[in-house]
Amino acid sequence: QPVTIKNALISVYYKDNLEPIIQELNRLGVNIYSTGGTETFIRSLGVDVIAVEDLTSYPSILGGRVKTLHPKIFGGILNRRSSEGDQQQIAEYEIPEIDLVIVDLYPFEETVESGAGHDDVIEKIDIGGISLIRAAAKNFKDVVIVASKDDYVELDGLLKTQNGATTIDQRKRFAQKAFNITSNYDTAIFQYFNRDEPMPVFKQSILKSQVLRYGENPHQKGVFYGNLDAMFTKLNGKELSYNNLVDVDAAVALIDEFTNEPTIAILKHTNACGIASRQFIKEAWLDALACDPISAFGGVIIANDEIDAATATEIDKLFYEVLIAPAYTDEAVQILTAKKNRIVLIRQQVELPAKQFKTLLNGVIEQDKDNTVEGPDQMNVVTNAKPTSQELKDLFFANKVVKHTKSNTIIFAKNNQLMSSGVGQTSRVDALKQAVIKAHSFGFDLKGAVMASDAFFPFPDCVELAAEAGITAVLQPGGSIKDQDSIDMCNQKNIAMVTTGVRHFKH
Ligand code: 5GP
Repeated sequence: QPVTIKNALISVYYKDNLEPIIQELNRLGVNIYSTGGTETFIRSLGVDVIAVEDLTSYPSILGGRVKTLHPKIFGGILNRRSSEGDQQQIAEYEIPEIDLVIVDLYPFEETVESGAGHDDVIEKIDIGGISLIRAAAKNFKDVVIVASKDDYVELDGLLKTQNGATTIDQRKRFAQKAFNITSNYDTAIFQYFNRDEPMPVFKQSILKSQVLRYGENPHQKGVFYGNLDAMFTKLNGKELSYNNLVDVDAAVALIDEFTNEPTIAILKHTNACGIASRQFIKEAWLDALACDPISAFGGVIIANDEIDAATATEIDKLFYEVLIAPAYTDEAVQILTAKKNRIVLIRQQVELPAKQFKTLLNGVIEQDKDNTVEGPDQMNVVTNAKPTSQELKDLFFANKVVKHTKSNTIIFAKNNQLMSSGVGQTSRVDALKQAVIKAHSFGFDLKGAVMASDAFFPFPDCVELAAEAGITAVLQPGGSIKDQDSIDMCNQKNIAMVTTGVRHFKH
């Protein structure tokens, strides 16, 4: 049943980004009711607005504590359009049918985090706003509820494309998000009241949750438990999807290996399809992209250094899903926020869990994250040929990438740049063949490049093929009963091999 919006109630704390919606509602001829600050804002846009006081014949009292809590407002939201009784009553009491409610709650958590005093925090417990959200969400059959500033863009899109009409599925989805917001809001208040009497186990079990649009595929539901707002500041774009989150997690883990030089990685389906470390971030971008510009399309990009305008201009040429960096120059922000759908995030330094969990069969398995990375000291030369100092650097680089790539993995690298990889293959030799073909298809000459393998070589075929492709130094953990066959092959081909003793499977 499509509902077309005739009357809207808007009461928002943050007025930013509200303007397009107001203009759109105005264009659609919607009557807008609003509270004090929001009303002033709407009027300043030159759009007609009715003060809720004029509807309720009651002023905002107690310093704003009671603004919208009135039967004319709640009757307008909660009346069932299909109920004759409800309809008679709203006619009798001259209650308008409110079919869109937009609320952005008092920023309770932000106020707590700002270190504000107790009285200020208490004043930031929204009462009317949360009630408006609950009422509108309860009556989602007839009412559209937009319960956060994060959803203004989505609403604006719907208003534009559907001319004020919405479907029951869309309204239900907004309601679901709305209850997600009210439950997180009350959880935050609960946690504030409990912070002097910690209940450790209980507190930890109340993780914030965020309902995702869907899971890995549209027919799968998805929820994220955790606090994304603490990790990222969003500068642009829609909500992170389930698949985005999985890739962003992989991207963060990968880039954290690179702390010395400006580095950019591009990931697809959790694997790097490009990564380079350079003196300047723009060069890092260009060389990361050069690795595989085809896979890079629609990827997740992560940098360990500030993005400047020149780099942003280059990145902007590619269609990507998500871009993450610790900082952006103002000019870069302008360039990167021009296209609506691209997600641009600032990464905050937040400590991440040291453990990983996964459901499995009828239980859960837990493990430590793979937090080791082998330095030059652990690189044990086992061949007659010794790696040059540049090759050692490249092996170190390749080993960091191999660690974060799906097994079976072969990585080719040269001069702090990924040349190509073979990922997620069921045999190591297939991974190697894939890497050789990929490198050649993007015009790389593998002469003098190095190879890293996430696990040992069971047979000498991999090093043989690698040497024939031009590889001059190889890194592997070692540990196969046939290690000597691969070492002999390296000696025969006069290439260097180091073993690290540390396997980096990633399944
Ligand atoms: P405005 O800036 O429009 O004056 O106020 C907007 C804010 O007031 C919103 O954050 C909304 O959630 C909140 N709000 C709306 N009605 C009430 C109410 O009756 N009591 C309280 N405490 N807050 C309200």
